[in-house]
Amino acid sequence: MDIKQIGEFGFIEQIADRFKSLVPKSIYGIGDDCAIIPANENDDFVVSTDLLIEGVHFLRDKITPFNLGYKSLAVNLSDIAAMGAEPVGAFLSIGIPKDCSSELLDGFTEGFMALSKKYDTPLLGGDTTKSLRDLMINVTVIGKCPKGKALLRSSAKGGDVIAVTGNLGDSAGGLNAILNNIELNSHTKHLIEKHNKPEPQINEGLWLAKQNGVHAMMDISDGIASDLNHILKASEKSAIVDLQKVPVSEILSSIAKKYDWNAAELAVSGGEDYELLLTISGECATSIAQRFYAEFGKPLHIIGEVKAPVEKPIQWISGEEKLPDFKGFNHY
Ligand SMILES: [Mg+2]
Repeated sequence: MDIKQIGEFGFIEQIADRFKSLVPKSIYGIGDDCAIIPANENDDFVVSTDLLIEGVHFLRDKITPFNLGYKSLAVNLSDIAAMGAEPVGAFLSIGIPKDCSSELLDGFTEGFMALSKKYDTPLLGGDTTKSLRDLMINVTVIGKCPKGKALLRSSAKGGDVIAVTGNLGDSAGGLNAILNNIELNSHTKHLIEKHNKPEPQINEGLWLAKQNGVHAMMDISDGIASDLNHILKASEKSAIVDLQKVPVSEILSSIAKKYDWNAAELAVSGGEDYELLLTISGECATSIAQRFYAEFGKPLHIIGEVKAPVEKPIQWISGEEKLPDFKGFNHY
């Protein structure tokens, strides 16, 4: 059977099943944004790893070396943010093809280091090797949080509201602009920057994890049409999401109109926004959203509601109107 038939997530499930019996009870293994490992009496470590391959995740001539370094660490730190944890350190393994210049590697290191400094995430080790063709970058990050306090995908409760920490779809719009060689202006540059230099929501994640009433959390890497399913599946729930409430930037709306893109579809299916997706107890939602605004100067957007499990995991609506399904990004 080829990988297309079982799909990316089917493959992950197969592996998880086979290793389940080897994972001690004190450790949480495959199934969330990070694994959780006890550190000492008071703390847990959280660990995640991500692979970026040239031609699959990035095009070498469409991203600056600086941004490539920044993004390589950012997508990993985003998984630490998703647990509500604080970064401890990073490991970098890199497969370098012959045609990679020392200027590229230098720029890459500068970008990686800029984010490293911003969130106190020193590089602690790694590996370098020759690659026959493509540039390959693997980053592993370790974070720390108070024992038992990491926010899991499996903790959503019926009656929770669903929230996101920022606009969705800008990154997918940026990718569209890159792939279609769309004319550069301040708007398209903004979208491309969102795609090439995402910002991990570390401070937002840490803050949210401290609030009573925040239940489940993950980061948005594949688009909420796919990512929300992970929360719903892990929590055995369903959801209603109102497209009118899904935040889309004015820049994306105007560019989408100009080039006849479907902005709503980019927002829910595009992915790579690296905002946080969370569920909050219905009673606490308004107060948490108000305090989030006071803390970060930006809104926490409530986009839907968690429901008892039904056959269809997500019911999409637009105001009163029921909509057909959206699909998230899947590598195969
Ligand atoms: Mg994630």
